[in-house]
Amino acid sequence: MKYHIALLKGDGIGPEITESAAAVLNAVGERYAHEFCFTPYLIGGCAIDAAGEPLPEETVKGCLASDSVLLGAVGGPKWDDLPGSRRPEKALLGIRSALGLYTNLRPAKLFPALRGASPLREEIVSSGFDILIVRELTGGIYFGERGYRTGKYGEEAFDTEAYSVTEIERIGHAAFRAAMQRNKRLVSVDKANVLETSRLWRSIMHRLSEAYPEVQYSDLFVDNAAMQLVRNPKQFDVIVTSNMFGDILSDEASQITGSIGMLASASLGDSKCGMYEPIHGSAPDIAGKNLANPIAMVLSAAMMLRYSFGMTAEPDCIEQAVDRVLERGIRTADLIGNTEIRPVSCTEMTAQILSEITSS
Ligand code: NAD
Repeated sequence: MKYHIALLKGDGIGPEITESAAAVLNAVGERYAHEFCFTPYLIGGCAIDAAGEPLPEETVKGCLASDSVLLGAVGGPKWDDLPGSRRPEKALLGIRSALGLYTNLRPAKLFPALRGASPLREEIVSSGFDILIVRELTGGIYFGERGYRTGKYGEEAFDTEAYSVTEIERIGHAAFRAAMQRNKRLVSVDKANVLETSRLWRSIMHRLSEAYPEVQYSDLFVDNAAMQLVRNPKQFDVIVTSNMFGDILSDEASQITGSIGMLASASLGDSKCGMYEPIHGSAPDIAGKNLANPIAMVLSAAMMLRYSFGMTAEPDCIEQAVDRVLERGIRTADLIGNTEIRPVSCTEMTAQILSEITSS
């Protein structure tokens, strides 16, 4: 089968890591008889330089016409002095909204070989953890009514949170479906002891849980969830939560894995077309030096196969190849810490992953 993928390389290390992901997808395509066709489009700083705007119309049209989108990263010091509305990062919100991507999936997995990189104590991480955070991406307090007004103590600022039944239902279904593809455990995180939106959230999640009897469902208040993530992260499989709580908890979860160059993400909407990108930025300090860790981008491509193309063996094959490369002690510079290990380059790490895919 043939799949059309829009390739948004972006800035900084974006071109290096997207090249790695494309090579890995081609190797998987060869092994499992799929054809992946890549069409590059401009986004971010390189689009500002070439077309005068961070998100050209042609990029939006190209993404809408594709089966899925792979994004490297955008931004860099060259464009830092531009006003907010013309900065490279503005393209991210634009493309998410053009594609209607309201679900953000952020896995936080501790690779057994990288246990030492976690800031948590050995006894907490000794058996590893593998969490998927499902964050609502286009509603809640980040998009609510806001402004300044005169209040009881004079001038004040306000932000409001609103969630509709439809918004909660669609993110809820996305989370239950994700749980069905994993270990069938889902925790919904809210603040239903205080917030009205959370009480609606919780009641809808309970109703939806009846449609997924195989999923073991529970609720947690957000303050407790933040605590449980560092106390015993292994207890979690899938977590679903609102935009702001997800923003905070997913950063906390990524930090306890200890390695920003390893973490993938997916943004999904109602169609099969999603956008897949590493959680890190464009790393301008190492751009063009062949030092970047391509694994977060490669694992984002694996998520694309799983969530947009409905594959299982193919993403498993990529993830297992990454596991084996790490088990063999192969590390890019960001993963070596204070050890004596000789780091490999971005292209060498990619070659090692490719060799595991073709030889396994
Ligand atoms: P960053 O994630 O780019 O880099 C933080 C640190 O992590 C740097 O030292 C970098 O070298 C290192 N790092 C990041 N990814 C790595 C990888 N794959 N391999 C090895 N090391 C890696 O964050 P930053 O420095 O705050 O931001 C740089 C630029 O990226 C800014 O312009 C920012 O706005 C942009 N940004 C873009 C995105 C995105 O495109 N989604 C996300 C975050 C930041």
